[in-house]
Parts: sequence; structure tokens; C-alpha cells
Amino acid sequence: MTVLFGRKTPVPVICGVCGRGAGAHGYALRDYSRVLWLCDDPGCVEQASKVYNMKTRDLNDYERKAFNEAIGHSADAIFESVMTVLWEHGAQNLNELDADKFDQLKRAATQNEKLQEAMAYFQNAFAYSLRRQLDPSQTPF
Ligand SMILES: [Zn+2]
Repeated sequence: MTVLFGRKTPVPVICGVCGRGAGAHGYALRDYSRVLWLCDDPGCVEQASKVYNMKTRDLNDYERKAFNEAIGHSADAIFESVMTVLWEHGAQNLNELDADKFDQLKRAATQNEKLQEAMAYFQNAFAYSLRRQLDPSQTPF
């Protein structure tokens, strides 16, 4: 096992455990093995070797469960944010939406602070769920 410090590429990289932005930590089996870049969360650093050697099918199962948990925690806020954008932009009747109005609503939604917060919450909940599943000693909430 090799724990690396320092990024070898200027291209942004995501954490191989939780999917957030990777920091300066990496995990590799040997000096010239592929590198699993990691965020700065200690839980991701601890679980790196487990994920590094995990079969894709197993990792997909963890991700699917994490997605379901995260959407369960954030769906209300996401839905409420989208409904607010629709309401505030005069789209009370979805049958009246045309392509231009739909594009206008999409732009408004992407700039809506509440929706951005809700999506950030989803992302954090997803990452937390993955780390929690990988480390059975963590509490299940
Ligand atoms: Zn991470």
C-alpha cells in the first residue's frame, strides 16, 4: 500500500470513495499502480483500501443504496425548491409550458439558492451514506 500526497494532474478529480472533490490524498497498491484520489474526509481515507479492491458490482450496490438514502433525505427540499421556482415565474399551470418557458424555468432553477442548498445537501447525504456503509462501526443515521 502506498499513500500519496500531492496531485499529479491539474484536471479536477473526484474522491474515489464518496464522489466529492478530491484533495491531496491518494491511495495506490504500489508505486506505479493506478491512484484512487480522495477527498480530505478521514472516513474516505480510512475506507480507501476497501474501495480500491472492491468489485464494480459491489460498489454500484453501495452507490445505489446511498442514492436512495440521500434522495429520501433531500427530496422534500428539492421538490419544494422546484415548486417555488415554478410559482415565482408564473408557471402555475404546467399544461401551458412551452419550450421557451421551460428553458427559462431551468435557468431560474439552476440559479435558485434553495435548490442549490438542497442539491448540496443531497451530495453530502450521498457521501455520508457511502462512508457509513463502508464503515459498519458508524451509526446508521
Ligand atoms: Zn471522499
